[in-house]
Order: sequence, then C-alpha cells, then structure tokens
Amino acid sequence: MNELSARKIVVASHNEGKLREFAELIAPFGFEAKSAKEYGLPEPDETGTTFEQNAYIKAHAAAVATGLPALSDDSGLMIDALNGQPGVYTANWAEDADGKRDFMRAMTRAEAAMQEAGATSADKRKGRFVAVLCLAYPNGDAEYFRGEAEGTLIWPPRGELGFGYDPVFMPDGYDMTFGEMTPEQKHGWKPGQANALSHRARAFQKFARAKLGSE
Ligand code: IMP
Repeated sequence: MNELSARKIVVASHNEGKLREFAELIAPFGFEAKSAKEYGLPEPDETGTTFEQNAYIKAHAAAVATGLPALSDDSGLMIDALNGQPGVYTANWAEDADGKRDFMRAMTRAEAAMQEAGATSADKRKGRFVAVLCLAYPNGDAEYFRGEAEGTLIWPPRGELGFGYDPVFMPDGYDMTFGEMTPEQKHGWKPGQANALSHRARAFQKFARAKLGSE
C-alpha cells in the first residue's frame, strides 16, 4: 500500500540530530514515527554519489526490513569556494581513522580548506545546506523532497544548539548561526505557516504538503 493512511512511518536514520528534528517536524501530524535505530536496523553503507541515491539506500532498506513506509534524509553542506565540497561526504569529514565522528574536526577541516582556497571575505564564503528526503515503500517505489538553505560560513563557530556544522552556518537574512537558534527558529515553520528556514524543514514542508495534507 503506497499510502500513509495508517499514519505509521519509519524514520530511516541513526543520526541523533536528524531524529530530533524529524520528531519535532512530524509531531503536529499525529504519526507513529519510530526510527530505524529503535527497530534495531543496521545502518546501510551510503555508497551513492548523490543525495538522492543515498537517501534511497537508507529509506528502501528500512521499508523492506519493516514492511512500512520509510522516510530518510540525506543531507550535507556545499561550499562554493570548495566547488560544492564536502557535499555527500559531509559526515565523512568528521571521521577519524577509526570512523569516530567529531564535528569540531569537520568544521576545522572545512575552514582550513576555505583558507587554502583564499575564501577569507564573507562574499567568498557562501554555501548551502541541502536535504533530500526520500519516502520509500516496501515495494521499491520512492518519492523525493529537496530543501536547500543558503548562507555564509563563519569562523570561529558560534552556538551550542543544533548539531553537525550548525555553529559555522549563518543563513541568509540572519545574524545568528543555526547553532545559536532554538529548534523553532531553525525550522522556521509550523503546519499552516509559509516559510520554512532550514533545508530539512523546507524539504519536510514539501513532504507534508504532498503527503500529509498540510497547508
Ligand atoms: P548524512 O546525510 O548521514 O550523510 O550526513 C549528513 C551530515 O551533514 C550530517 O552528519 C551533518 O554533519 C551535516 N548536516 C546535515 N544537516 C545538518 C544540519 O541541519 N545542521 C548541521 N549539520 C548538518
């Protein structure tokens, strides 16, 4: 059944930051949204070279394993001065040789690469967060919802909220980083409201309009 009428969905992620944001975004819709982690599913290898491919790998695996529709998110930071890097490898930039993740390491690496590329003034430090949500069904069908947030990379990092690269990303039109924003400010959206802010909330808003009957 390629429908969400049972109001039951698997959130195909093991990333705590994403899971928290999905829980906040889906809460108003009265869904049972359990994560792939809660189902005890393994994390599939992200072998794709696009956000769409990796989002499909995660959502499809969770849908097949549970027999339920699954919603995944593949996301990343694309920095203009680095020709779109780290892109689909955004999480990998945080890993040490043992695969342990540390986002201070990742932000420092991105900053060093920008300095190397001569990206020292605000106008040369533009970038965007991208999130591609994939809604996959056990029969292999899939739909995609993409959201982007434009901004400037700042240094040093600011703010203790959020996750990942939030402390170095200042969205256009704001003088706060995502790391300084409350969840409500970062999402910038509730059902029925017009303008989502974060890439994930923008993608979720498209999903909610297409599939959940949201305004
Ligand atoms: P993946 O989608 O699992 O490949 O990981 C995407 C990576 O992008 C995450 O581990 C974060 O480091 C980063 N990222 C994605 N969305 C956000 C966000 O909203 N804030 C900060 N970092 C993010």
